[in-house]
Amino acid sequence: MTEAIRNGHADETRTAMSCAIIRRAFLDHVFHTQGKLPGHAGPNDLYQALAHTVRDRLVQRWISTSEAYLGQPSRTVAYLSAEFLVGPHLGNNLVNLGIYDEVQAAMHSLGLDLDDILRQEDEPGLGNGGLGRLAACFMDSLATLEIPALGYGIRYEYGIFHQAIVDGVQVEQTDSWLRRGNPWEIQRAEWTVEVRLGGHTEHYTDEHGCYRVRWVPAKTVAGVPFDSPILGYRVNTVNTLRLWRAEATEAFDFPTFNRGDYLGAVSKKVTSENLTKVLYPNDETQQGKELRLEQQYFFVACSLRDMLRLLAADGMPVRRFHEKFAIQLNDTHPAIGIAELMRLLVDEHDVPWDEAWAITCQSFAYTNHTLLPEALEQWPLPLFSRVLPRHLEILLEINARFLDEVRIRFYGDSARLTRLSLIDEHGERHVRMTNLACVGSHAINGVAALHSRLMREDVLKDFFDMWPEKFTSITNGVTPRRWLALSNPRLSKLVCEAIGKDWISDAERLHALEPLADDAGFRHLWQAVRRENKLDLAQLVRQSTGMVVDPASMFDVMVKRIHEYKRQHLAVLHIIALYHRIKCDPDADIVPRTFLFGGKAAPGYQYAKLMIRFITSVADVVNRDPQVRDRLKVVFLPNFNVTCGQRIYPAADLSEQISLAGKEASGTGNMKFAMNGALTIGTLDGANIELRDAIGADNFFDFGLSVPQVQALREDGYDASACYRGNAELRAVMDLIRQGFFSHGDATRFDLLFDEQLRHDPYFLLADFASYVDCQRQASAAFSDPARWQRMSVLSCARSGWFSSDRAIREYCDRIWKVKAVPVRLLHRASGAPRHAEAAAHAGGKP
Ligand SMILES: *Cc1c(COP(=O)(O)O)cnc(C)c1O
Repeated sequence: MTEAIRNGHADETRTAMSCAIIRRAFLDHVFHTQGKLPGHAGPNDLYQALAHTVRDRLVQRWISTSEAYLGQPSRTVAYLSAEFLVGPHLGNNLVNLGIYDEVQAAMHSLGLDLDDILRQEDEPGLGNGGLGRLAACFMDSLATLEIPALGYGIRYEYGIFHQAIVDGVQVEQTDSWLRRGNPWEIQRAEWTVEVRLGGHTEHYTDEHGCYRVRWVPAKTVAGVPFDSPILGYRVNTVNTLRLWRAEATEAFDFPTFNRGDYLGAVSKKVTSENLTKVLYPNDETQQGKELRLEQQYFFVACSLRDMLRLLAADGMPVRRFHEKFAIQLNDTHPAIGIAELMRLLVDEHDVPWDEAWAITCQSFAYTNHTLLPEALEQWPLPLFSRVLPRHLEILLEINARFLDEVRIRFYGDSARLTRLSLIDEHGERHVRMTNLACVGSHAINGVAALHSRLMREDVLKDFFDMWPEKFTSITNGVTPRRWLALSNPRLSKLVCEAIGKDWISDAERLHALEPLADDAGFRHLWQAVRRENKLDLAQLVRQSTGMVVDPASMFDVMVKRIHEYKRQHLAVLHIIALYHRIKCDPDADIVPRTFLFGGKAAPGYQYAKLMIRFITSVADVVNRDPQVRDRLKVVFLPNFNVTCGQRIYPAADLSEQISLAGKEASGTGNMKFAMNGALTIGTLDGANIELRDAIGADNFFDFGLSVPQVQALREDGYDASACYRGNAELRAVMDLIRQGFFSHGDATRFDLLFDEQLRHDPYFLLADFASYVDCQRQASAAFSDPARWQRMSVLSCARSGWFSSDRAIREYCDRIWKVKAVPVRLLHRASGAPRHAEAAAHAGGKP
């Protein structure tokens, strides 16, 4: 034990940030927390000890933050999201605490390598892709901007599956990220809540003659909160990410137990815990699975109960709920919260319906993330009624009142009523979660300018006609802490030396780099850094695939979930076109490229899985053809996640953002690449449009159909086979595939991908092919001129600052949440008389 603790000193000596004290604290944790002599500590012991050392340095700020939030008048943001793809915590906390160098030195003094230790952390894969990652960037920005906020979600025991590639095919393995324990979470058993599910309702009149409803559930489940600290950059604010785990309300079902059925009694516990067992691995599609609806309701019900507890701790009545909380729905996954808050207010707190509705609408705001119809959530009515019988009644009451309003506003327009109804009456009846989210929220936002426009004109047009004032657009962003300062230390150092380090919390200051784009000396340093990053990535490629790639070649990178609309297969058609050129003319002048792909396919999404097989099949042929002479290399990097993203984005030369125009809501990968100095080849889709505007059309390779052109083609009748007939190179490419050239002569293997393409081509692959290939030619030409390329690369980074999630969060604060910063003063003693119960309500120490 350190002297400070033995002597009962205040916390500050024990948790000081100097190299020497960090070193001593680390050794203490190896001994006392891990129970090892330093000489016997394994890699995980070292990681755990360092994580605890850093956590100790967060706790004082965490407690100070909850004290500062208690009773303060600002609203608290409650960010509700079924996914938080936070990535590894340790490195990020070092950056945000400002002790990266001290810790590195402390480890070095013990003969340890900090990078090795950082690599030990299993990232919490509690999300599928962009949506979950956005929630994580937003949590970072909220803390950095000192906004009182709580993230609420689900503590999945198994996160997104681990992807292995075996014989060119995706194989899913379970992700047991908790198996070695999670040093970042604190279980708060005392704030456990009970959640009801299923059963039926009973209607009666109470002793005051009031009409009442009683919900008699079929089962109850306990929700136990696990809190993780989210530290802002160089501030005292530590917000809380509160994730709920389902447990049995009684570990033993005593009646059954007493009958002697011990295992039967325990099995109930197992069933309850299934609720938060696993993350559904579908990105941008929804399946009407009962367990998924239960998950959604479970975490929302827990979170709302938690907010009511915090409200009471602040001495405020439930009728002032909306003055205390601004609830943001990250897509419709938590939209059931609208019905749940109504139930809590009306059934449990006797608030009259109209007042409850006003409170609810003022509390909720909804972010739409997709225009894809298959991603809009709908629940079959019988399923919904089985899981949430009381909520169905409430929903129908909301609907009846809403439709009455519509009838008067849009006199005689019955088609509109059908479209706006919360219930889809076509065929089997469904509950429309999007409609519920729109009706119950005071603000609705899209995530990029184009997406918000299409949302108003298309998917949510009827709601826009009804309430134009509810609609707004807030373009997504990414945090420059994780995605530049942490993931690209070499470039960050160079940038800091050139313009100082204010950009880390004020990314628009990156603009100061602009003049340096014309400074040959600076460009030289820039290129050297980027080359080092490419060497690092080449090493990762070698470790995970055994392949050797040339860091002098252009790193042409497409990493993101595998989707038809994202069009990974278009990128492969280009590779085949280049290959074909080499085969026709072995000395063709081709700029050497390494094509890197990464991304998971949903396990049940056959089309996406076949796309992976297509990529790996083409890779097999191209990589071993001696005539290619290593001018083309195709790599599929397995298991793309935040951890490997941090090594990929900084090493890319070219960023592939090639979705069909009108399909990608925003994209955030595009922003991470640009911030790290990669140039973009992209369609005019999602936030690519704003990215191109910011970086300058001269520094952006755009191609392909625009949204109006896609619309026009659809209306005039699009003939994909005409594109095929009219373009010799495309014909050659398609014929190779359909002759089985990439499938050992099996001419049918990729039929699912390309027969459909030739007939209907719903994602306009063939229509965009020529423009894409031509644009790639321009990218190659630019790459052959290093001065020109590096200049564009510097400008890309310099002009990417607007895409910081800090800017996005400021817009949410001003336009939707109406919240302001609440700076946190560090409490200098962890002492003081124990206060009771709710004092540490937001987070922090034991009462
Ligand atoms: C940023 C990110 C995404 C989103 O990428 P897009 O290119 O915007 O689809 C998905 N997964 C991970 C791990 C990410 O870091």
